[in-house]
Amino acid sequence: MNALDGVWRRHDPAIAPIPLVFDSPHSGEIYPNDFDHRPPRDLVRQAEDAHVGKLWAHAAGVGATLVEALFPRSYIDPNRSLADVDPDLLADAWDEPLVLTRKTSQGIGLVWRVVSGGAPLYARKLSAAEVRARIERYYAPYHAELATVLNARHQAFGVVWHVNCHSMPAVGDVNADDPGRERCDFVIGDRDGTTCEHAFTRFVADGVAALGYSVSINDPYKGVELVRRHGRPHEGRHSVQVEIKRTLYMNEGTLQPHAGYAKLEADLRTLAASLADYVRGRLAGGLAA
Ligand SMILES: [Zn+2]
Repeated sequence: MNALDGVWRRHDPAIAPIPLVFDSPHSGEIYPNDFDHRPPRDLVRQAEDAHVGKLWAHAAGVGATLVEALFPRSYIDPNRSLADVDPDLLADAWDEPLVLTRKTSQGIGLVWRVVSGGAPLYARKLSAAEVRARIERYYAPYHAELATVLNARHQAFGVVWHVNCHSMPAVGDVNADDPGRERCDFVIGDRDGTTCEHAFTRFVADGVAALGYSVSINDPYKGVELVRRHGRPHEGRHSVQVEIKRTLYMNEGTLQPHAGYAKLEADLRTLAASLADYVRGRLAGGLAA
């Protein structure tokens, strides 16, 4: 199976597989029928990392695997911890332990409470059973598929490199860690060096810079749940987050790709090929750092 209806789709390597895995958790655009958000769909869609899965799909051509989420992150966010449930959103009690974060208080935890701009996402409270159902039907299968792919590559090669793919608004909003600041074209995150070997983080950043883009590392995005969960450099599991500025490829308001889309897609193809060269080089070198 290379897809689970409405939940995830996997793009398998078109050539011999290498231990390089991409995932796009926020580009899903299949809205579940019971997602009774109050604001108009256009506003809710501002949460999407629109087109990111498609922009990286050619990575399969260099031997990598891509897993993309098909559901919207505003319904349930795969890049949040299961302990990040907002009690203010619920009509009844949550049985599991909670570890609330700044994202929770901002209303963008596991299940979002607000849309872009801060308006409430729902006209009602959600039941704990509804949130549990979203975890079981969407969140857990997405994580399980990504973990299965990463584990299979790690088992076969003894090492795996994971690139967690996102896109970001060009300017931080009031809730961001950098409100009002124009961002670099790319932000690479490894949670301050804890989820990936330094050499790969550096290689990704240098590859982006070589293509003519501005790039920063861990500023303002360090990476959240997916790299935290899968990045264990001491086990040979390396995870980095790559954020791309949305205005490079689309109109941020309408989500329509603009003339820059084709150039970015071609540049990501070049980048994916160089990451594959890095991986093959490390394998050939006996994994010595
Ligand atoms: Zn994202």
